Amino acid sequence: MPFPTTPEIPPTRRPWRTALLLIAGLAALLALAVGLRTASLSSRQLAVAPLPALPIDTAAAAERLGGAVRIRTVSIDGQPGASAAAFAELHAHLERSFPLVHRTLKRELVNRHSLLYTWTGSDPLQPPILLMAHQDVVPVAAGTEGDWQQPPFSGALADGHVWGRGAWDDKGNLMAMFEAVERLIATGMQPRRTVVFAFGHDEEMGSTAGRDGASAIAALLRARGQRFAYALDEGLLVTEGVMAGLDAPVALIGVAEKGYLTLELTAHAHDGHSSMPPARTAIGSLAAALDALQHAPMPADLDGIARGLFDTLAPEFSGPNRWLLSNLWLFGPLVQRQLERMPSANAMLRTTIAPVSVRAGAKDNTLPAQAVARLNLRLLPGDAPAAALDHVQRAVDAHGVRAASSPGGWAGSRVSRHDSAGYRQIERTIREVFPGALVAPGLMVGATDTRHYVDLVDDIYRFTPLRARPEDLPRFHGTNERVAVDRYAEMIRFYHRLLSQS
Ligand SMILES: [Zn+2]
Repeated sequence: MPFPTTPEIPPTRRPWRTALLLIAGLAALLALAVGLRTASLSSRQLAVAPLPALPIDTAAAAERLGGAVRIRTVSIDGQPGASAAAFAELHAHLERSFPLVHRTLKRELVNRHSLLYTWTGSDPLQPPILLMAHQDVVPVAAGTEGDWQQPPFSGALADGHVWGRGAWDDKGNLMAMFEAVERLIATGMQPRRTVVFAFGHDEEMGSTAGRDGASAIAALLRARGQRFAYALDEGLLVTEGVMAGLDAPVALIGVAEKGYLTLELTAHAHDGHSSMPPARTAIGSLAAALDALQHAPMPADLDGIARGLFDTLAPEFSGPNRWLLSNLWLFGPLVQRQLERMPSANAMLRTTIAPVSVRAGAKDNTLPAQAVARLNLRLLPGDAPAAALDHVQRAVDAHGVRAASSPGGWAGSRVSRHDSAGYRQIERTIREVFPGALVAPGLMVGATDTRHYVDLVDDIYRFTPLRARPEDLPRFHGTNERVAVDRYAEMIRFYHRLLSQS
């Protein structure tokens, strides 16, 4: 029959089939793009010649570090000056331990306890660099002293480690710098550019951290018109086994740090007898507000510092992780959901909101008129404190709860370049001293003294040249803080190499 009355659609023209073919074609194209992108990425790691390990008398260096740990330079919130005698003792220990440093460098005492050293370079035209550490340590939590394998201020040398509060944070950095400079002076070295060392004494002082130390040092340098090529302070580590899918050690250089803000949430209600509670109590409203807040996190940002980290490390992964991280343009949401499940990764992506205390009520037969919760926020660079407060207020509004800022917060830092000469020098030194370690820019989620120096230097880096495994991390500000003697030797080698190239 040449002209059928109901013409049949040829099989290839059936709409559902066309759609399927389109989808298959698109999927093939996507797979091709993903494959090409994954294959096109090659390692971004700096190729460096291996550096012979500098021989170090580790036992003697460890003994000097232990000596510093034994001196209780503890920062107690709200009690500046409580450790005054200890700082003087630490200064004497430094002078005894490092005679060449004290004969060669200019030493200034700032606000009685902070230290400023200047090592004059041979080329006055080169802008100086700023190296930082802090002398104070956090207290040992009451009641945990007995949990320590070695007493917390013993500075004991046992099982290949220096034990005690501050061995890691931050006397390890402080003493390793002195060891390196002492060593370099002994071999007749003078740096090309001037090196300034700033050692504050109140970095661990909660919301007033650095007020009497780093900020006073910065004010002195500011008055002298001092500007720096870059600054390096304590920070991210050389981690092993922390990133799933990467066997090599990963050294992250903190190019920015998060801000700090504490908010108070207050719920009001009528007080009265607990035998006749109203439908809405102060405690009930506050609980509902806190629950609402848990479901309203600040937005995540995979395009900020996290992006620089993944772009740098993606070629180093193998298997599915390599595909995923090389193609964030497609898999971004999937990767983000994975990261959000890990508190440490989540903290890199967004401003975090942590309820840290709740107070309400005093008696079993009385309804409190007020319930208060405190929230500690760590602000992603770019999230203004006012915007974070606004976000929290909107999340709790429906429950009649008011949010207010507590004094003493600060915004996240500027993001330093990860292609500057300073970054490259730190990166090169890491690759030389920690062979095989992968280097990438990262975000420091804790706070450092660096925020007091932001107007004196454009590029600020936060890196502690210390290897750490996941099981080491709870020791930081925690029980059984310690540093392995061979890892401490690597810290000394890092500063020695960095300074010998300055
Ligand atoms: Zn520290």
